[in-house]
Amino acid sequence: MNRADIERAKKANRREREKLVELRAELDAYARKIDAEALRNARNRTAWVREREAAIVALRALTARFGATGWSDDTPLAEILEIFLREPLEDMVMRVNRHMDRLRDETRPKPPPIGPPRPLRASQLHELEIVPVSEQGVHGYRAACACGWRSTRCGREADAVERGGNHRAYLANQPAGGGA
Ligand SMILES: [Zn+2]
Repeated sequence: MNRADIERAKKANRREREKLVELRAELDAYARKIDAEALRNARNRTAWVREREAAIVALRALTARFGATGWSDDTPLAEILEIFLREPLEDMVMRVNRHMDRLRDETRPKPPPIGPPRPLRASQLHELEIVPVSEQGVHGYRAACACGWRSTRCGREADAVERGGNHRAYLANQPAGGGA
């Protein structure tokens, strides 16, 4: 080995050392980065755990009131929401809807019952009155009933009375509510 060879070898050695130093620095930086990430993950995990704990507390109250109990603190949230909250809630909404339908049906006005005749209302009591009429200069009488029925004009009062009587007699044989 001559002098020149020795110098080359030293130079190469120095370069290697410099490279090693650089590599070491890079590794240190990388390690610091990994540490920081691990710390961040740990913090995230803590945050997640706290958030889950808060969710569990809220779900306990919700399912006690609107859903079903019987789940444990480590039941997956999705399962709690689906089985212990959504399904019972849906049942409850359906029950409420059915109840509302029943109430609506009960308060809806009923159609008049079909069957035996109802008693006459006051306005349907056939109370007759004979009223004098004068049409186009012709005088006469008309029977007028409280139900709204009117006889044709009669020349004589007695005829109007008779027609009124017929009206009442006719209606006496009709089912209530009928007119003539
Ligand atoms: Zn009448």
